[in-house]
Amino acid sequence: MTPEQSLRHLPNGHCRSPSSRPAEPCPAAPRDGQGKALDPIAATRPTAQAKRGLAARGITVAFGSGKHQTRALDTVDVTLHPGEAVAIVGPSGSGKTTLLRVLVGLTTTAAGTVSLGGTPMPASVRRRGRDRQRRIQLIPQNPLATPNPSRTVGAALERPLKLHTALSRERRRQRIAELLDLVELPADFATRYPTELSGGQRQRVAIARALATEPDYLLCDEITSALGPATTTAIMELLRSRCADHGTALAVVTHEHRLRVVP
Ligand code: ADP
Ligand code: MG
Repeated sequence: MTPEQSLRHLPNGHCRSPSSRPAEPCPAAPRDGQGKALDPIAATRPTAQAKRGLAARGITVAFGSGKHQTRALDTVDVTLHPGEAVAIVGPSGSGKTTLLRVLVGLTTTAAGTVSLGGTPMPASVRRRGRDRQRRIQLIPQNPLATPNPSRTVGAALERPLKLHTALSRERRRQRIAELLDLVELPADFATRYPTELSGGQRQRVAIARALATEPDYLLCDEITSALGPATTTAIMELLRSRCADHGTALAVVTHEHRLRVVP
């Protein structure tokens, strides 16, 4: 992915390159049948906080070495402002997943920095400290690979609560029920194993797990691509309300131009 390829679609059919240039009319903005911009993502962008947020600058990532080297990202800039929602759109293999993994600290970079609120962070999530780990959560692309198949849904949801909150055991149990309710799953799903869930239910669990830490930045990697239209709509509505009601910033990776976070 180069800076030119990694356009971020913004409200009103505008987009901008991941650099901090102002928004400009976007020739690649998705259109519906009448030629009207579909605005895959729209959200308020508090201007007072525009200089803050989760920002990547000059990110370059290469996998392999020598003639087998793949340059997944080449000097990419992207900023996710507090409370805003952006779509990261691109074809398969263009580096979308890599970019989210760099932001969350799971993939190390050959060059570039990631900063939070203007302060540069270590590249590795392990060295970022508990609070920054809590504030930036990734919902991965493949919910079938997660959570751990040997762990019940309740145990999977309890883990982030143990790590990032001081809740008592009883309060954690209540919170697990609340999180399941948030993603519209019954409380007794806490005792189920991932193999006892459908793809859509696993995706909801993955979302609940990411929301357990009450993140400020939620990075969503093609989270609806394996789901049917009804589940996709319900999940996008859930994300929209997190953004609107809690000010959670969303980065939504998709190759589906018709996805909407706004009604
Ligand atoms: P996207 O999410 O846009 O489909 P990815 O970020 O997964 O793209 O991949 C970008 C490029 O980097 C691809 O060419 C992919 O094959 C390569 N790549 C991604 N992860 C790895 C890895 N762990 N090892 C080697 N190559 C990788
Ligand atoms: Mg991907």
